Amino acid sequence: MCCHRRIIFACGHYVWGPIVRPCPDEKAFHQGKLDMGCNQMWSDVLTTVHTTPKCKKCAAAEAKTGAQVAVIKEKIRLLHELVDKISQHKAKPTASMKLSTC
Ligand SMILES: [Zn+2]
Ligand SMILES: [Zn+2]
Repeated sequence: MCCHRRIIFACGHYVWGPIVRPCPDEKAFHQGKLDMGCNQMWSDVLTTVHTTPKCKKCAAAEAKTGAQVAVIKEKIRLLHELVDKISQHKAKPTASMKLSTC
C-alpha cells in the first residue's frame, strides 16, 4: 500500500492527493519489474491534512439550503405582515363597537 496525501474536509468527506511514499510494489512497477502498479492507498497522520472548509458537494448543498432558508424566511415575514394587517382590520371594528356600547 502506498502512502498518499489525504485531505479531509470539515464535513468528513475526503479526497486522495498525490503519492507521498510509494510501496515496494509501486516502485517495482515504475522500474518495469511488475505489470501492475499498486493501487491501494492509505494515509497516516503525517500525510493526512484536515481542512476547515467543506467539500465542494457539501458546500454547494449548504449554499442551496441557505438560499432556500432565506426564501422561506422572507415568506414567513410577509405572512406575518399579512396577519398583522388582517388582525388590525379586525381589531378596529371591535374596538369601535366596544366604544359605542360603553
Ligand atoms: Zn502500494
Ligand atoms: Zn462533504
